[in-house]
Parts: sequence; structure tokens; C-alpha cells
Amino acid sequence: MQYIYAFAEDQTLTNTELGGKGANLAEMTRLGLPVPAGFTITTAACQRYLTNGQAECDFLKDDLMKAVQQLEATTHRQLGNPEQPLLVSVRSGAPISMPGMMDTVLNLGLNDQTVEGLAKQTHNPWFAYDCYRRLIQMFGDVVYGIDKSIFEAELTALKRAKQVTSDTDLTLADLKQLIQTYQTLYQNTDDAQFPQSVTAQLTLAVEAVFKSWLNPRAKTYRRLHEIDATMGTAVNIQQMVFGNYQGQSGTGVAFTRNPATGEPGLFGEYLLNAQGEDVVAGIRTPEPIATLKAQLPTIYEQFKTLANQLERHYQDMQDMEFTIEAGQLYVLQTRIGKRTPQAAFKIALDLVNEGLINRQTAILRLKPAMIEGLLHPVFDPQALKQAPLLLTGLPASPGAATGAIYFDAQQAQVAHEAGEKVILVRQETSPEDIDGMVVSQAIVTSRGGMTSHAAVVARGMGCCCVVGCAQLSVDTDQKQADFNGQLLKEGAIISVDGHTGRIYLGALGQQTGKQQAALNTILDWCDAEAPIDVWANAETPKEVATAFEFGAKGLGLVRTEHMFFGPERLFKMREMILADQLSDRQIALAALKELQLADFKAIFELAQDRPCTIRLLDPPLHEFLPQATADQVALATALQISPAEIKRRIAAKIEVNPMLGHRGSRLAVTYPEIYQMQVLAIIESALAVQVEQGHAVAPKIMLPLIGTAAEMQLLKQQLTATIDTFLAQQAQTIAYQIGTMIEVPRACLVADQIADSADFFSFGTNDLTQMTFGFSRDDIGHFIGAYQEQAILSSDPFQTLDQDGVGALMRIAIQKGRQTKPELSIGVCGEVGGDPSSIAFCQALGVDYVSCSPYRVPSARLAAAQVALQTRV
Ligand code: PEP
Ligand code: MG
Repeated sequence: MQYIYAFAEDQTLTNTELGGKGANLAEMTRLGLPVPAGFTITTAACQRYLTNGQAECDFLKDDLMKAVQQLEATTHRQLGNPEQPLLVSVRSGAPISMPGMMDTVLNLGLNDQTVEGLAKQTHNPWFAYDCYRRLIQMFGDVVYGIDKSIFEAELTALKRAKQVTSDTDLTLADLKQLIQTYQTLYQNTDDAQFPQSVTAQLTLAVEAVFKSWLNPRAKTYRRLHEIDATMGTAVNIQQMVFGNYQGQSGTGVAFTRNPATGEPGLFGEYLLNAQGEDVVAGIRTPEPIATLKAQLPTIYEQFKTLANQLERHYQDMQDMEFTIEAGQLYVLQTRIGKRTPQAAFKIALDLVNEGLINRQTAILRLKPAMIEGLLHPVFDPQALKQAPLLLTGLPASPGAATGAIYFDAQQAQVAHEAGEKVILVRQETSPEDIDGMVVSQAIVTSRGGMTSHAAVVARGMGCCCVVGCAQLSVDTDQKQADFNGQLLKEGAIISVDGHTGRIYLGALGQQTGKQQAALNTILDWCDAEAPIDVWANAETPKEVATAFEFGAKGLGLVRTEHMFFGPERLFKMREMILADQLSDRQIALAALKELQLADFKAIFELAQDRPCTIRLLDPPLHEFLPQATADQVALATALQISPAEIKRRIAAKIEVNPMLGHRGSRLAVTYPEIYQMQVLAIIESALAVQVEQGHAVAPKIMLPLIGTAAEMQLLKQQLTATIDTFLAQQAQTIAYQIGTMIEVPRACLVADQIADSADFFSFGTNDLTQMTFGFSRDDIGHFIGAYQEQAILSSDPFQTLDQDGVGALMRIAIQKGRQTKPELSIGVCGEVGGDPSSIAFCQALGVDYVSCSPYRVPSARLAAAQVALQTRV
């Protein structure tokens, strides 16, 4: 097997075998760019070395020596020859870029003899010895694991002793003394010696680079970026060129575009008279690349042309390393540059406009998760590195927020009104908390899962939220909370990262996400590609307006009970729930109807001719019952009954298992007047908007929690009768539909029967997941971590659709539903509707649209287009 390839060799290997760096060095050599000569040892050699239990790489020795001889012939220099010394760099290069995670040795080939040769040949002994001391330092670190800082400390001590500040102020004698000291460090630390044999240097360095594939930081990086751990790294051995040589010499890194903003034009920095690690190590402050134009104009122009050529060749923004040796420019590396989300969208758009790539390629290069960083603030990555982590919960809604903690909604509101930035910390939230939630920078709960009340409501509002924090216990009475052993009082400052679920002590710097024109243009391209539409789950006019701004094609779920979160409305809702007789309930319902008329009208006006799916009341009753005594007393007064009586009625409504209790369509079976009021409010307001705006309004009325065909049939008949009687009285028509959510496993299995009387289906995957697994959506936060750690579940099923179980039920429901009605419209409105991998699955199942919270609409549009493009490829 051939393990070594010269850069100039004619071959067709890719990143997988040559690593990203090696493949690009070979490609640049073929393009005729000024690349110092060299060769690449393949990843297969690394794999063999590592799987052999890291025995010596004897299998490679002969080939390595042959490759060196070939390099010697090309460069007219020899490794270890004091007359014409060849110096090389030995650098790692993984198939997928892992910047800075593995090791590099520079200036290899120097020993006590060749250093003299280099000094003579360059007429620059200082330079030669500076290279030598750098080699001994790097070799000690990489091959013998002697900490860099030990060498740095000696260098600093010497400079202090000589009363100089810069390395370049040291004399030749100083450098020689430093080299002596460095060599003793080997003995002190590892009873080792710096090898004078250059071949030994080479093999040891190659083995060390192979081994660096397994160092802890590389492992962590692979885990974080889901990089296959079996790939191994390639090793690149390349003739050294010297940025620390003399006169017009230097080294730098540059991007073809600004990686933070995406603005076109060279962006980077360089140092004259320096080697690569000086730029990276931050020992000296580099100059911006624009200064090179004034300092070395010809080289600058040459580099600019070369950068342009590379960008056109690779059709993407490049991140390059270059060195100038005595007025001669060399490029040492090029790779696709990493960039911020903002830059990613701008660059993709510009590359299409410049004719370098087409729209489809641009769409496929972006990641849905990047959009979160554009729509929501993120913490400053530097600040995050040192931030004191308190605990981690479930990342329910993205964003980054710092504020003072409050444990009840009212206190949060008072503090907010006094000008404080507040974070609401609760065991769980309920509709009573809404005013506190609205004014909070972030919401944190100790209980709950990704579809719990706090999660769903915060996501709808676009508010940062972390739920299910198992290590948080809130003591509302004492106004304090235990954050994983740290007791914090009301008013303490914390920072909440809704992207990761991490909560930190104290304030952290933020960067505000910036939505930009590029995002909107690219999302419009996405819509043209995607066979599946993206709708939104929204109920307040603000959320509805946001949803349409973000490009939702319709409303897939208007949760009507969410419209009763405000204190006055909640009061009316409670009156209705706790009314003991029909006449009292009718009074409460009449008041609620007035409110609903206005709500629905506002929604239809904003939606114009887009479809609006309005779901009838589905409250798990416990979420709406008054807990506080003051609330109970107020309700008793309104209903003209005693507090004791109200307590009795509340007690009568308390359910052992409210999520499986008297909710959804079950409420309408016992109290038909509730849904009758709601459908009339829907139809009356739709009619009003139809007349005012002069276009058809077609409401889709949706029943929750249907489990049997008879339930569906009964309610459909009742509601159709109510609506049709009203329309006949008004002598008007309106094209309404009555469909159902599919969120009870039984409904999937009898979907053919249900479809007889349903005009459409929409999967409520939150409840469907809850009932399929038997996992309470409000309590999963406490154990999902253990399930994932022990690989029982690869992801939270409330976040990413469980394709094997819940997905199988959905497949049955679609097949059976369309068996009865081939044209049946089918959507998904559970929270997984905004999850990219779930969208792919839903699309494959034949779903017509997915519906998600407004802030997730943009990433869902991108994900839907990507699925379509990937399946077409
Ligand atoms: C669902 O169950 O998936 C759903 C969308 O309804 P809710 O979350 O309101 O129960
Ligand atoms: Mg539901």
C-alpha cells in the first residue's frame, strides 16, 4: 500500500486520505502556486500506527526515507548535511479541519552541526540559532510532552536577566545559552535528550503527530463536532521557508473575506521577521494585512491575486497561511474559512451574485442552526470560556440573557418596572406567570421538558428559556434558590444561555444577533426548492406578525387557551371552568366570546388569505385553576359564592393525571357550549374580515385530542349545525373546514375512520410522543439526561421526532387517512415541526407542511429546502 505521496505527484486522492491540508497543498502545487516542496503521509498510515498499539512505525521507514531523498533531490538540500541543510516542517492535517487541536514541529533537521551550516550559508548565525532553539522547544513539547510554558519561562527569565523586552534583542551568545538551558530541561523532565540524529527527529515527530490524534483536546473537539474518531490524521512534511530570515521576510494568516461580517476583501494579519507560531501565540502584536500594501506593495499584490485565484478555484472563502522569505512569497496552507453565521449568509449570497456558485449550492452550505445566532443574541465566546458555570438544563428556547433572578412573576414585574433586567426562575410556569414571563430576559425552570408550558410559551415569544434543570431547587417562600449547591438570593445576577442550556453566575458580555437582507433573500430561494411548506404556531397578534415576517405560509396552530393568559382573561376563563351550572357558564362564555371575536379578527386581518388553523380549547385544567388564596377569594366574589365553595369546586376539578384527563375534545363532549361559543367567534370574525378586506377567509377549525371516530363525528355534527344555522341567519357563506389533531396513538390506528368526518389532520407530536412513550412532557427534564448519557435514547423525543416509534404511528395514520381521503391535507404542529432532522422525516412521510414557533420558521424553511435538494442529488 502506498502511504506517502509527494505534493507534485499525479494522483486523485481526497481529504479522506491526504487530510484537508495535504489535499490542498497537492492541489495548490498542481495549480502552479508557490508552495514549498513536500509530501504527505496518508491517514491510512496513522490508522495502521494507532491500531498497531502505537508500535514503532517500521512499516513506514523505507518509504519515508525514499520520500525524503526525493525531496532532497527537488530542493537540492539534504537532511542532516551541514553544507546544504534541508529543514522541514512536520504538520498534522485531518480529513476534517480541527484547527489547533493536533501537533506541529517546525525547523526539523537542525542539530549542533547543521545549525552551523545554516548560519554560514545564510550569513546569519542569529537566525540559525533562533531556529534551533525554536525546534528544541517545539520538539520537547510535542514529542516529549514537556510543557511549552516551561520553555517560555526560561526565555522570559533570560530576557529579564539581560534587561531586554523583545526576543530579537537577545544576542547570539544569549541564544546559545538558552539552547543549553533548553537541553537540560529534557533531562530534568523526562531523562531524555534532544536527538542529534535528524532521522530520529523525523520519525519521532511523525509518530508524535500520529499520536496527537488521540490527545484530549482533539478528542473533545471531535465529540463536539461529531467527527468520526477512526479517520486518523495525515502528516505533511514540507521544506521550511523562513519568515524570520532577514529583510523582506515575514509570515501571516489571511481570509479572502471578513470571517465575522462576510464583507469581501482580504482580511488578516502578519508579522515581519517572524515564524508562524509568533502570530498565533500572540507574543508580538501583528499588523493588519492592509498595512502590507504600504510595506511590501509588490508582495501584497501578488498575495491578493493568489488569494483570489484560490477562492475562485475552491468556490468558497479561503483561510490561508503565507510566508515571505527574503522577498519571495510562499503559500503554506489554504482551507475553507470558518465564519460567523452572519458572514455565512452574506458570503453565500455574494458568491451566488458573483457567479461562483449556484443557489442550490449556497443553500446546502448553510446550517439551520446558524439562523438561531442571527435572530437571537449569543454570549461573547471569549467571555464564555472563563464564565463560572452553575448548572445545565434543557435548551428550550435560544438566546443569551443576563439579569437579576426573581422567583415569582409579580416580583419580576415590579423589578422590571423599576428598571431592572430580570430573569424569572420557577419550579415550573403556569398561565398565571405570563406577565412576569413577558418582562423577563430569560425564563428558567427546575421542572419540565422541551414541550412544557414554559418551553412552548417562551419559544412563541422568542424569549431565552432553559427548563428541566435537575440541579435547581427553588424556594419561593425564602426567596432563594439552590443552583447546584450555590445558594442565590432574589436579585442575584445570572446569565442564561438558551442555545446550550447552560446557566452561569454573574454577568456575561453579549453579541446581538443581526438579521440581514442576505438571510431573507436566501430563504426566498429556499421556498422555491422546498416541496413542504412551513407554517407557524402563533396566537398573539405580535407572534402572528412575527411569523409572517419570518415567511410562514400559514398558521398551523393557534392555541386558543394561550389567548387567556393575561390576568383579566384568566379570570374569565376560571369563571367558566368553575361555573357549576350551565347558566353561569353561559355568562362567562359570553364574555369570553367578546374577547375571542377581537382576537380572531386581528389574526384573520394579519393572515389575509393565508390559511389559519384555530384549535379549540385544550387546557389541561390544572394549568388554569387558581392557586393563591387571594385569587380564589376574588373568584368567589365574582361568582357570588363563598371561598369555601370555591375551594370545593377547585378540589372537584383536581385530576390525578391532568395531561390524560378532562381536556381537549373531552371538554366539548361534556360541555358542548364551550366549542359552540368558539366556532361562532371564529366564523363571525372571519365573516367580518371577509367583508372588510374583500377576500375570502377560510378558517380551519381544529379539534384537539380526538381518539375515536365517534368523538370526531359527534363534535363535527354539532359544530357544523351551529355554524350553518348562524350562516343561514346571516345569509352568508364561508369556506370553513373542521379537522383534527392526531395526537393520541389510537387516532393513528383508526385514522381511516376518523378521516371520514375530518377535513384535515395535523399531528400533535407533543402529546403523541407523551402518550406513545408514556413520558410526561412536563417531567422528562429530570431523567432525559440519564437516558441520553446511557445511550438509551440518542435525543430528546420531544425535540427530535422518535422516528421508530412515533414516526411509525404517523406513517400508519397518513396511509390510513389518505386511504379514506386521498387529498387529505396533513400537517405537523408539535414542537418537532421546527427541528431540521424531523422535517426531513416528515417530508419523506408525505406531510404537506410543518408548523413551528415563529422564531423557528426561518431555520425550518432552510431545512425543508436542504432536504429537497439532498434527495434530488
Ligand atoms: C401537541 O400536542 O403536539 C400540540 C401541538 O398541542 P399542545 O402542545 O398544545 O398540547
Ligand atoms: Mg397537544
